[in-house]
Amino acid sequence: MVSPADIRIPAELLPSDGRFGVGPSVVRQEAVDALAAVARTYMGTSHRQAGVRDMVGRLRQGLIDLFSLPDGWEIVLGNGGTTVFWDAATFGLIDERSQHLSFGEFSAKFAKAAAAAPHLAGVEVIEAEPGSAPSPKPSDVDVDALTHNETSTGVATELRRPDGVSAEEGLVAVDATSAAGGLRWEPAEVDCYYFAPQKCFGSDGGLWIAACSPAAIERIERRAASDRWRPASIDLGIALENSRRNQTYNTPALATIFLAVHQIDWFNANGGIEWSAGRSDRSASAIYGWTEASEYATPFVTDPALRSSVVATIDLDDRYPADDVMAACAANGIRDIGGYRKLGRNQLRVSMFPGVDPDDIVALTACLDHVVAALSS
Ligand SMILES: *Cc1c(COP(=O)(O)O)cnc(C)c1O
Repeated sequence: MVSPADIRIPAELLPSDGRFGVGPSVVRQEAVDALAAVARTYMGTSHRQAGVRDMVGRLRQGLIDLFSLPDGWEIVLGNGGTTVFWDAATFGLIDERSQHLSFGEFSAKFAKAAAAAPHLAGVEVIEAEPGSAPSPKPSDVDVDALTHNETSTGVATELRRPDGVSAEEGLVAVDATSAAGGLRWEPAEVDCYYFAPQKCFGSDGGLWIAACSPAAIERIERRAASDRWRPASIDLGIALENSRRNQTYNTPALATIFLAVHQIDWFNANGGIEWSAGRSDRSASAIYGWTEASEYATPFVTDPALRSSVVATIDLDDRYPADDVMAACAANGIRDIGGYRKLGRNQLRVSMFPGVDPDDIVALTACLDHVVAALSS
């Protein structure tokens, strides 16, 4: 049998960009070039001065435009990425109890963080098998924790306020880390839509960003006025005050902010979320359409309504070990298509974030067909 690393994919089949990882994910060269062009006046300058604060302001306004946020919504940001935002939320967003829909690695992690917080009164966790999604249950919790796109399994959910729950009774807080910018949502159904910019926003990690409704802002302010102890670095009240001045509490990564703004401007200049999500839609129909014709590839998510258009999880026939397919692809510059390990399946996982060219998804499927044919010869 041919060794996977010796397989050569013909150059004309290769994608224009070989980065298909789900985070960090493809950073557009145009953005990197634009950063290089302003480096001498932007990088290495104070985040308390106009140059960087204007960039933070563009990030905040650009997201308000992209998501068509109603009056009263605000963009709040701080350092640490989504994982740190979960900890911040246990101090500054959850009053007492939260309900978590848990259906993969990331949704489970927030549930775990809230369950472990000694100052909270416990969590309700509603689980579903990987590859599916649970429904919320009526409850008197004060935060409903949803996940727009479960990156570990490739399940995307439609965001809906749980039946009968208004924002006064319970906030809907959504982990949108791999969804924001690539999936559509309605602000009326959500109070806090939070994410990090290393996925659809084609930037680097280390920042959390939260779009907050007036009810979420009110909650943050009320919690900040309470006497519950919280570390200053993850105090949402302090983050809100700083965000309103287009700053962060401590020094942010300036390149991360710049690259995110570049991507947001790119989306907005081309038509906003319809355009960016439309790119992901085209990639998704290419890859799922290909699986229908394929003898060896099937979507892991059996319910087409739950199949993500930003992260595809593809099961391979056992005759073709995913490790071999990945090794052959990596030898040809196609990176990071491995499935989420803990699922323990013979699986590939592919980013279809808006920054990925839909034509490159078509090219990827042709490359996979070539690799599998070579492995079986
Ligand atoms: C990537 C990801 C995270 C983790 O983000 P960090 O910025 O690395 O903390 C959380 N939730 C989801 C859904 C993700 O895709």
